Amino acid sequence: MSDFDFDLFVIGAGSGGVRAARMSAMRGARVAIAEEYRVGGTCVIRGCVPKKFLVYASAYGKAFKEAEGYGWSVDGASHDWTTLCDNLHAEVDRLSGIYWKNLSNSGVEIYSQRAEIEDAHTIRLQDDDRTITAKYILIATGGQPARMGIPGEELTLDSNDVFLMKERPRHVVINGGGYIACEFAQVFAGLGSQVCQIYRGDTVLRGFDDDIRAHVHGELKRSGVRVMTHANTIKVSKDGTGQRVVETDTGDTIKADAVIQAVGRNPYTKGLGLENAGVELDKAGAVKVDEYSKTSVDSIYAVGDVTNRVNLTPVAIREGAAFAATVFGETPTAFDHADIASAVFTQPPVGVVGLTEAEARRKFGQIDIYKANFRPMKNMLSGSESRMVVKLVVRQDSEQVVGVHMAGDDSPEIIQAVGIAVKAGLTKAQFDATCAVHPTVAEELVTLKEKWTPPEIS
Ligand code: NDP
Repeated sequence: MSDFDFDLFVIGAGSGGVRAARMSAMRGARVAIAEEYRVGGTCVIRGCVPKKFLVYASAYGKAFKEAEGYGWSVDGASHDWTTLCDNLHAEVDRLSGIYWKNLSNSGVEIYSQRAEIEDAHTIRLQDDDRTITAKYILIATGGQPARMGIPGEELTLDSNDVFLMKERPRHVVINGGGYIACEFAQVFAGLGSQVCQIYRGDTVLRGFDDDIRAHVHGELKRSGVRVMTHANTIKVSKDGTGQRVVETDTGDTIKADAVIQAVGRNPYTKGLGLENAGVELDKAGAVKVDEYSKTSVDSIYAVGDVTNRVNLTPVAIREGAAFAATVFGETPTAFDHADIASAVFTQPPVGVVGLTEAEARRKFGQIDIYKANFRPMKNMLSGSESRMVVKLVVRQDSEQVVGVHMAGDDSPEIIQAVGIAVKAGLTKAQFDATCAVHPTVAEELVTLKEKWTPPEIS
């Protein structure tokens, strides 16, 4: 019998923490987990899951309009925010309950309170004000929304607050040009709000392939979002009617019912007591880990967004599973972070896997690009001017497809399957040898024949 109260104590019951706790318990470890908010973490409670319900909700508005081209009359359609939020929260509650049940059925002891680290093997439970010891500690506390640090900050919301809004704001200002800003901009625009997105750069979605960025930027505008570029919010105040007044460094003043900051997320390490145990952080405040998710302290590991590797739910889940296999399965397992497919739920959405054109050029020098930009068949009758982009990035020496980038309906669903081919290292010839499914937008992936040549610069 071990001298410790538990074999493993997990701090944070989000995607990574829950998976690690369950897999460790299933391997015979005595496991406890502490969560200060709600079991399920950001993804389930105030991230991917409720966000996708908002995206589904807002897409109906556009669908009603487009249905007319197919002979439908959808007169008098209206939207009720309260119904949406009630149903959304009921589903989130259900999912959180399932996470709880799965943990508890695996024999994991759940503490619904904040836990902090006292030393390499000791955790203090804040509400109970007592300590617990564990052979291993896993930090899985995720991230939290970053803030711009501007005057009037307290009058603004972050992504956590959006899911708790009692009414849909008619006028919204959204700061940022990343995943969250772009997704929320189109959610609110689709539900009928007037949206102004303020972005400090020139094209949204920095880090994505340039063709995808340009496409999403154009589609944001097409969906009615006013996108202000090269602009920063410098102050927010409140007028006599309670409206927010946003001032920018471009000299503009915008009135809104809600101002949302979507300017990134920071690893959530504050006050965790990491310094007590000697756990090292990097410059961004993320927990430094090796390929097996071990920190600078042998008994302490960390997975998920708190390590700021690839901040996505499925990645945290894989890191959690790899941790359990390494520590309690006696099989050292390092999750491979290459070629992770991901999606942005803009409207239309984005699906990407592998290297962007710019990254591939830097890495391999000579590459070939195959791309198509077309109006999908569905839009011919719906009247939508929205287009689809499909792009393959191919190594010239080996003909391996090292990147696939798509924007258009169903891209997230399609990229999941294409991700297998890219991860497997398949070549363009192998893509071409695959027979098309017709008529689909995805058939472009196996029918792109012409190499794209960059326009000559005169
Ligand atoms: P991102 O890092 O994607 O984008 C942050 C945006 O805020 C960028 O446009 C950035 O500009 C801008 N910004 C940063 N600091 C400031 C500042 N001080 N003033 C003004 N603008 C600023 O973060 P998000 O908040 O959108 O999302 C956080 C993370 O959540 C993502 O990285 C992703 O991992 C995850 N996520 C994933 C989703 C998905 O998979 N579909 C959906 C939502 C979130 P610049 O471009 O110039 O740096």
